[in-house]
Amino acid sequence: MNDNKKKVVVIGGGLTGLTTAYYLQKAIADKELPIELTLLEASHKLGGKIQTVYQDGFVIERGPDSFLERKKSAAELVREVGLSDDLVNNTAGKSFVLVNEQLHPMPKGAVMGIPTKISPFVTTGLFSVQGKMRATCDFILPRSNKNEDQSLGHFFRRRLGDEVVENLIEPLLSGIYAGDIDQLSLMSTFPQFYKVEREHRSLILGMKKTTPKTPKNQLSSKNQGIFLTLKNGLQSLVDAIEEKLTNCTIMKGVQVTSLERHFDSTYELSLNNGEILHADSVVMALPHLAIADLLHEKEYISSLKNMPATTVATVAMAFDEKDVENTIDGTGFVVSRNSDYTITACTWTHKKWPHTTPKGKVLLRCYVGRAGEETVVDLSDAEIEKIVLEDLKKTMNIEAKPQFTIITRWEKAMPQYTVGHKQRVEQIKENLKEDMPGVFITGSSFEGIGIPDCIDQGKKAVQDIVQYLKLSS
Ligand SMILES: Cc1cc2nc3c(=O)[nH]c(=O)nc-3n(C[C@H](O)[C@H](O)[C@H](O)COP(=O)(O)OP(=O)(O)OC[C@H]3O[C@@H](n4cnc5c(N)ncnc54)[C@H](O)[C@@H]3O)c2cc1C
Repeated sequence: MNDNKKKVVVIGGGLTGLTTAYYLQKAIADKELPIELTLLEASHKLGGKIQTVYQDGFVIERGPDSFLERKKSAAELVREVGLSDDLVNNTAGKSFVLVNEQLHPMPKGAVMGIPTKISPFVTTGLFSVQGKMRATCDFILPRSNKNEDQSLGHFFRRRLGDEVVENLIEPLLSGIYAGDIDQLSLMSTFPQFYKVEREHRSLILGMKKTTPKTPKNQLSSKNQGIFLTLKNGLQSLVDAIEEKLTNCTIMKGVQVTSLERHFDSTYELSLNNGEILHADSVVMALPHLAIADLLHEKEYISSLKNMPATTVATVAMAFDEKDVENTIDGTGFVVSRNSDYTITACTWTHKKWPHTTPKGKVLLRCYVGRAGEETVVDLSDAEIEKIVLEDLKKTMNIEAKPQFTIITRWEKAMPQYTVGHKQRVEQIKENLKEDMPGVFITGSSFEGIGIPDCIDQGKKAVQDIVQYLKLSS
């Protein structure tokens, strides 16, 4: 140990903490920074919500299964850690929305549910004539003069009407956050839609103008979708990062139980194994409720305590092909709240991600639980399996029991960016800067929940540390 070195501790070995450690280690090497780096993880495995199961030739994701290719930082990290050959795009099949017990194909040209092509909207069975007429009011409605944050529901209902929101936009958007569209913040989830209204007034016309057209030469027979994953599962990214962290002390199975500032602006971390660590700078790459626990005495942290987080479960079921009759050409569906279903979404994983499933088999991955509908996650595995199978039987003919089922419960795992989220986070960061300089909060509870967003936040945390320690070269 070199006492002249600054000690940086990253708490949390999920993707955000791993990214922070990885890029900080890189900065230390590139700029010869005098930093000693430690990563602490409460569980015995790194990766946090990223967990892949390998069973009977299947590659099954318990948590996230892919990331948006358009957001570059994830594929960049994958390449840096030597996994570029493992990147796979999804098969771009049709996706469906289940409304009133019926599967409807997603209208062509819908961007997050907003029409950019008129005829598929006119002909879809997703909305009544009145619903469609109401949506066309978007062409004439004035832009709102609301400058402050508002809920996604308020914004879209005003422009396109309730029916388009409830039958298409809500199932799509809340599928990402497992949230309540009437509570989620427009500015913290999809600020681009606010911008489109500001600049183009009509959402439909604005999206039509601003959505890049796929060049003809890219409409190839390859049939590639807009998501990427890794052929050996996202866990392989976690493992590859861990392998690269050769100049970082990684401690697994140790939970930080308190974090205190010393008079000299260094920090003392108590661990559940009785050890005490000291640090000059600390990154808390933790879910907000874990941060609220660690800093429970701080008054300014109360908004983190009150920030909701939704409980969900993923249910993966493997079958023999002969036992599942699914003639629908597509990759999955989301379920509207007005349908009498418990599952909120289902991916026909063997079709969307063929590499995950051995030949002759079928892999279905469903979600249960969303804001206001979380109690299902408390049921036993057998009960959840039964409910999910009953729902699936309504959309495809399934004769047999699954070969196996993997249920993963994610308690309070989906942070809810409710109206005003951005300001609250800024305020907490301000308070923290004054009260505990050199301590940073980062991760999916703050500036984006997607994998690339977490990576971007990890990179930003590295800049913050280097700047704070006044080590930038
Ligand atoms: C079911 C599900 C599906 C998802 N699907 C997608 C998807 O397809 N695409 C996508 O882009 N995103 C998806 N997401 C979101 C994405 O997976 C997460 O936002 C991201 O993985 C969060 O990473 P993180 O490092 O910020 O947090 P986490 O993964 O939660 O990591 C935090 C870590 O901190 C540790 N920890 C907690 N308290 C302490 C403590 N006191 N001391 C030490 N360690 C502690 C935890 O054990 C954990 O490992 C999904 C999320 C879920 C739950």
